[in-house]
Amino acid sequence: FWEISYNIAHLMHFIPLAISSAASVQHMQELLDEPVRGADRPGAPVMPPVMNDIAFERVSFSYEGTDTKVLDALTLKLEAGKNIAIVGPSGSGKSTLLNLILRLYEPTEGRVTIDGVDIRRVTRDSLRSHMAVVFQENMLFNMSIRENIRLGKQDATDAEVEAAAKTAEIHRHIVSLPDGYDTLVGERGDTLSGGQRQRIAIARAMVRNPSVLLLDEATSALDQTTEAAINRTLLKAAEGRTMIWSTHRLTSVVEMDEIIVVSGGRVLERGSHHDLIEKDGLYRQLWDDQMHQPHHDAGDEDDDEDD
Ligand code: ATP
Repeated sequence: FWEISYNIAHLMHFIPLAISSAASVQHMQELLDEPVRGADRPGAPVMPPVMNDIAFERVSFSYEGTDTKVLDALTLKLEAGKNIAIVGPSGSGKSTLLNLILRLYEPTEGRVTIDGVDIRRVTRDSLRSHMAVVFQENMLFNMSIRENIRLGKQDATDAEVEAAAKTAEIHRHIVSLPDGYDTLVGERGDTLSGGQRQRIAIARAMVRNPSVLLLDEATSALDQTTEAAINRTLLKAAEGRTMIWSTHRLTSVVEMDEIIVVSGGRVLERGSHHDLIEKDGLYRQLWDDQMHQPHHDAGDEDDDEDD
């Protein structure tokens, strides 16, 4: 139940609200320094459309009611346009990093910036209008495939919905169904395979045309064959965008531009897969451990489309 509420809460955050005006970065920098937790500041401007580097500046974070520092003065710059993986042991704070970028939570100390602007200074809705997120489990509702995709962007045209489905490489499958985009997905999407549900969730993310694509264990629940097919789709879909992918499945990250290894609330290592294997540190250890784990089942019926 918790999982369902959590996903609904997330989904609701990403149903875009109308954004009325744009504001310059200069304007944003003139705003008061005083940090406000939670709600937008009165008169907060919207986030401008061009987004570049995302930076964590000495960010510490504890969940409310706990003393544990999940992040401990973490400093990290995530370069725009790159495919970046966040990896680390279980509980090391990978999902928390994404939650802070989305402003689902705010730092206890330090700040998260985009283009040098503290993300607390702009409206939450405008910040999120540049982002899309795919989780391990994504809520599908018993309505048509088209409506499920359109949850990413309420006013998306049919053409935009179809373009997003093509990017998610699920269009061909959808049009092969008797009712096509009008097919009802069933309770919690149970007429679709795990891989197909995940592709619908990717289409829902892509219809937002996000500058920043956040993935939280997006392919970790799938069998290896489907995981590999969807990873390829995601790498293509992320072209021209910043992709930040938190995962414990290291086979997903081999081709990423950069891998950030977090542990103990800090960045322990960063580099390409090759660099980190050479370095022979924690990443190498995690990699060797996973390579010795028994393989997952192969063979979901996922179709790797080639639209
Ligand atoms: P995993 O790989 O297991 O998903 P992770 O690296 O993504 O882990 P987080 O989910 O960010 O780690 O969690 C970091 C720590 O914060 C963990 O100890 C977790 O138990 C704790 N935590 C996460 N969410 C909350 C919450 N809402 N309230 C309290 N503690 C939380």
